[in-house]
Formats: sequence, C-alpha cells, structure tokens
Amino acid sequence: MAGSWGCPHEVDDRCTKINNLPCNPGMKGCELAGRFRFADESKNERYWEKRAREKAAADLAARKPDNSH
Ligand code: SF4
Repeated sequence: MAGSWGCPHEVDDRCTKINNLPCNPGMKGCELAGRFRFADESKNERYWEKRAREKAAADLAARKPDNSH
C-alpha cells in the first residue's frame, strides 16, 4: 500500500502510529479507519453504511407528501 495515498504515519510499509506494525489501512487504531475509501471493500463497511443512511434520509426528504391523512 506504500505510496498509494501518503499516510503521514507510514514509513517503509510500517505504521509508526501503531507500534510499527505493517501498515494495514482500516485496522484498529489506524488514523484513516472509517474516513477513507479503501481498495479493500471489506474495510469500506462504515463508509457504505454511512452512504446508505444518507441515501435513506435523502429519499425520505425527497418523498412527496402523500394524501393519506
Ligand atoms: S495503518 Fe493507518 S495510520 Fe498506520 S500507517 Fe497505515 S494508513 Fe497510516
């Protein structure tokens, strides 16, 4: 993943933020977790959940008032 986005904590594929573990974007403690779309879809769960909520809210807002009352 090195060089693909330039996380300031990544040095030589190691995470200087998390005990010099191999950089694993989205892992617990990762600065970018939940804030970034990752190439690995499994790490995008929070992103897509958020998108789904936004879409549901938008659909609701866009819905025309019905005359059922
Ligand atoms: S694991 Fe996250 S915080 Fe650590 S270097 Fe990689 S992208 Fe940066």
